[in-house]
Amino acid sequence: MRGDTTITDAVDAAIARYPDAVAVIAPDGRTHTYAELDGMADRFASALAVRGVVAGDRVGVCRAKGFETVAALVGIMRLGAAYVPVDPSSPSERNRTIFDDCTVRAIVTDEPALARLGQPDGVATIVGTPSAPHARERAPATPDDLAYILYTSGSTGRPKGVCLTHRNAMSFVQWCIATFAPGPGDRCSSHAPFHFDLSILDLWMTLASGASVALIDESLAKDPRALAAWIAATRITNWYSVPSILALMAEHGRLDEHDHSALRVVCFAGEVFPIPQLLALRAKWPGLAMWNLYGPTETNVCTALRIPDAVDAARTDPFPIGPACAHCEVRIVDDRGHPLQPGGVGRIICRGAPVMRGYWGVDPAETAAFITVDGTRWYDTGDLGAMDADGVVDFRGRRDRMVKRRGYRIELGEIEAGLARSPLIAECAVWSTSDAGEVRIHAAVVAADDAKLGVIALRSHCAAALPPYMAPDRFVVVDALPRTSTGKIDYQSLRAR
Ligand code: AMP
Repeated sequence: MRGDTTITDAVDAAIARYPDAVAVIAPDGRTHTYAELDGMADRFASALAVRGVVAGDRVGVCRAKGFETVAALVGIMRLGAAYVPVDPSSPSERNRTIFDDCTVRAIVTDEPALARLGQPDGVATIVGTPSAPHARERAPATPDDLAYILYTSGSTGRPKGVCLTHRNAMSFVQWCIATFAPGPGDRCSSHAPFHFDLSILDLWMTLASGASVALIDESLAKDPRALAAWIAATRITNWYSVPSILALMAEHGRLDEHDHSALRVVCFAGEVFPIPQLLALRAKWPGLAMWNLYGPTETNVCTALRIPDAVDAARTDPFPIGPACAHCEVRIVDDRGHPLQPGGVGRIICRGAPVMRGYWGVDPAETAAFITVDGTRWYDTGDLGAMDADGVVDFRGRRDRMVKRRGYRIELGEIEAGLARSPLIAECAVWSTSDAGEVRIHAAVVAADDAKLGVIALRSHCAAALPPYMAPDRFVVVDALPRTSTGKIDYQSLRAR
């Protein structure tokens, strides 16, 4: 699984082998075969070539999810260019900053997205579907050429462009294919937006294997009841999303009312899946393979754990994130890069085929993200973990969510885990503020169905579940946690409360 190929070659091989199989199920339910994907991708490639796009260029993608959007991504890569997807509903200033940062040669968009973005100066656009078919334009990429850039939020507030090559993506895709064995007849969900790295599995694992990728429209993406009905109606076989969506479905999706018997693999990634919700989901969907995948955008997925079929109902600790996947190496090291004994808590670092080339416009030698251990370059995830003697890693939160209060070292994730153990609490998020050196801890909590969340109940739960120094100073009871467009908890907006 060294990724010695390109996304384009892998998709082209599937097109040649399964031309009549369904490649894409559009949000409106319409199906498109691999042969249609081939033709539409060529239309985009030709239209982009006419607008001057050549190998090595970047092409922005600011467009609602749809069959044409998938085809545009393939078309861009057929020219040896890299795609740069952004969230069409993001503020236009943020999207323009991204497109300026990596100097896109062209932008693929649609009418509503363009109206929001505004006509960019001096950058060619393709709005909607390119009209006429042209000749086949190809400039084959090599595995070490850039395939796409995913912009993630930077700690300084300016988005950072994570540069990923075909090899980075394909090493992961090959691992997915070996692990989940998708093939013609499988229908894999695409819940995450394309600017989020979960989409790499959704799109390229699926389209490299002859299966069908079923696109979920934004309007449906956060509606647990509609999603539960959609999974049944589309006969989804493979699901992948952040845990919070699955938790919502377990709680409010009325899963019992639907036939989900086609489902065989459920993967989640991006954050910790709290055990009460995971148990609730397991109870509703017994007997299918559930996987916890872990990895920052910078490494794709680098560890994975298959959740055991039978989970002890008394369990409260989240599952580990698993051992390193076959396509990379993962270690736990101390602050000086020295490996730790089993059980020791330290930095999770990763090296190998899936690790990004670097951030766009940043000299890799100058980013703290890479560290040198044993003479080779490793990516420092910013996460903390502990590895057992079998190489299984337990996730212990992010380093940058560590605070010190009254001399005590506190992981905010640990407080969240402690609060989440209360039957009164459905969901929670904890953040800290610092005022004149005094660290205050705040918690936003969502009440479990029918639970009355009073301060006294919360405090007595904290007294039972957490060391006293970890108890939040302030609770805010909210109806729902604010979420980013990628479905993660929006800590930035919580801070403003
Ligand atoms: P992103 O780059 O948006 O994928 O975010 C990556 C970060 O999300 C990681 O560095 C972790 O802090 C967190 N994360 C990803 N997967 C998991 C997981 N399975 N369990 C816990 N945290 C995760």
